[in-house]
Amino acid sequence: MSSATLESSELNDMYSWLLLGNSLGSIILLALIAINVYSLARELKKREAGSKLTARMIFLFVLLSIAPATIVFYFSVQFLHQGIDSWFNVELDKAMEDALELSEVSLDQRMRLHLKQTRGLAREIKGKSQTLITLEMGDIRNKVGATEIALFSRQGHVIASNSIDPSDILPQLPEKDIWLQARQNRDYYALSHSKDGELLIQVIVPVYEEPPRYLQVLFPIPERISDLADSIDFAFVRYQEMKFLRDSLKTSFLLVLSLILLLSLLAAIWVAFISIRHIVAPVKELVKGTQAVASGDYKKQLPVMRQDDLGFLVESFNEMTQRIAMSNDEIMAAGTEVEHQRAYLESVLSNLTAGVISFGSSHKIRTANQAAYRILHVHVSHFVGQNLSEIIKEHAELAQLLNEIQGLLEQSDDIWEQRFAFLGPNGRQELLCRGTSLFSSLGLRVGAIVVFDDVTDLIQAQKNAAWGEVAKRLAHEIKNPLTPIQLAAERLQHKLADELTDKSAQMLQRSTQTIVQQVEAMKSMVDDFSEYARPSKKQVELINLNELVNEVLALYLFQAKIKIETQFNFENITVEVDPVSIRQVIHNIIKNAQEAMEGKGKIIIKLDKVILNNAIYAELGIYDNGCGLNTEQIDTLFEPYVTTKVKGTGLGLAIVKKIIEEHGGVIWVDTAYTNGAGFVIQLPTI
Ligand code: ADP
Repeated sequence: MSSATLESSELNDMYSWLLLGNSLGSIILLALIAINVYSLARELKKREAGSKLTARMIFLFVLLSIAPATIVFYFSVQFLHQGIDSWFNVELDKAMEDALELSEVSLDQRMRLHLKQTRGLAREIKGKSQTLITLEMGDIRNKVGATEIALFSRQGHVIASNSIDPSDILPQLPEKDIWLQARQNRDYYALSHSKDGELLIQVIVPVYEEPPRYLQVLFPIPERISDLADSIDFAFVRYQEMKFLRDSLKTSFLLVLSLILLLSLLAAIWVAFISIRHIVAPVKELVKGTQAVASGDYKKQLPVMRQDDLGFLVESFNEMTQRIAMSNDEIMAAGTEVEHQRAYLESVLSNLTAGVISFGSSHKIRTANQAAYRILHVHVSHFVGQNLSEIIKEHAELAQLLNEIQGLLEQSDDIWEQRFAFLGPNGRQELLCRGTSLFSSLGLRVGAIVVFDDVTDLIQAQKNAAWGEVAKRLAHEIKNPLTPIQLAAERLQHKLADELTDKSAQMLQRSTQTIVQQVEAMKSMVDDFSEYARPSKKQVELINLNELVNEVLALYLFQAKIKIETQFNFENITVEVDPVSIRQVIHNIIKNAQEAMEGKGKIIIKLDKVILNNAIYAELGIYDNGCGLNTEQIDTLFEPYVTTKVKGTGLGLAIVKKIIEEHGGVIWVDTAYTNGAGFVIQLPTI
């Protein structure tokens, strides 16, 4: 550019190349940047890992490169303007013009001097003959120190001439227009160039005679003056040229500068894209890796492509994921182990016939097994996560039991054992409970565990066995002496009847009769009791329970004051039972109902099927609207010799329960029924 300012043509050439080069470069860079911006925008839209970081870094990079470049550009433009302007200031203008004028004036003076000399020569040669002049020509030339001297006729023919160079025979002819001017008898002087290109002062003056002749003298200009004049001329022309080009020069510089700025900015942005992508690439990989780890892919490994700090980071990441994967595997293995243990424990617990409930701190139930739900008749969802007082609120029948258990849990840290009874939906249940507090390894109380078993059947069996023993003893100790007592009484009466007076004989007969009657009564009572205590001799057969019930009910239909209503949900329920025993069961219950209703009222008989433990059971419900039963009665109802009647034996329901249990069924008082007494019997079906 600096050399271009010296030579405007060079500037033009260079300028075009610069413009072309810059424009091409800018277009290529713009295209590259556009591609990069487009792909970055797509990444941003897709929320690809690292895209935001790339965008932010590029923005900062561009900002950082634009700011200094703009400042430099601004000052360069200012400097350029001022620099170019300073070339053309007023003093320089004036100096240039003065120098030019000085050179012109000095040359002019010299020319005037030579004009004067030439006029003198013209006067000298005036009137002289051609021959004389030819002879004197050399001297004349030498006298004035001219390079060449020549005399021309009016027609322009050379009359005489002399040159400093003897070989130069032909003088320099004046130009046509100069000649015309000379012929009008006007003096002519001007700068001229010799044939060798040397600068000369050419003077032509007329020699006033008839016909006029014209004298041309060529004076040399001293080399120094000539050089100076040339240099001033040249400088002036250059100066004018530059002055003329000043604005376009400024514009060109500005344009070139702007293009260079644009080019360097675009180059910086493109380089920014490439280098930032290069820097962000491992960060991107890391982000992807982290996302993979977050979504559970702990085995994620990233390629290590560099050995710098970021490469080290990637290596550390790989090491970390390896460790996470390892510990995850270990955790999984431990988890599976725990799960196996838990499943094993659960299967052990669920196969236990005993109920097991574990408590956390503050007596909140943590786990309970199936048996616990079965024994307490409370649904699973009501147990876990609740504490005892919450369960009590919903299950009033368990209130006493649970309160006592809670009290024991709170009081004792040792193992305790206690028997509880409660009235479940299937009648009275007896539980044998054992409980203990649980302690952590640090000795802190972390909860408790309670194990309980339904011992109702066991206790019943024990009671039955005891009653059986009593029955046997009764039969043996009481029934055996009864027959001799009866026989002895009859013999007494037989023997003494004739010997006594009528009055005494009558009294004896009455007494004997009373003894015999009471002995009979005692015998039948002992028989009833042995019947209850004796192991049964069942003769089972398949029967339709609906029909059997109807047959028994037919016997009661004649009683007008007692209404019997049947609600059979199924037409044909087949059971395998001893029909005689089951008839007795129904009789006993209906008889009790009649007595409770004191001869008038309504009995409802329901027959249905229920599914219990994957088996179908026939369910027979017998409800009356008599006096009903109170809680204490329900507790002992099915035990022998429990009666409220004057002539009752208290064996009716005990026998019923025995028969039902012998058939694999259950009987209980429906405590939900409050309109009288309600009994529910469940028997297995075929
Ligand atoms: P018994 O009828 O000889 O008294 P049970 O064993 O049949 O002996 O009955 C025992 C007791 O149960 C009866 O005395 C009675 O108080 C009570 N009971 C039985 N069934 C009913 C009923 N349907 N309504 C009211 N109380 C009943």
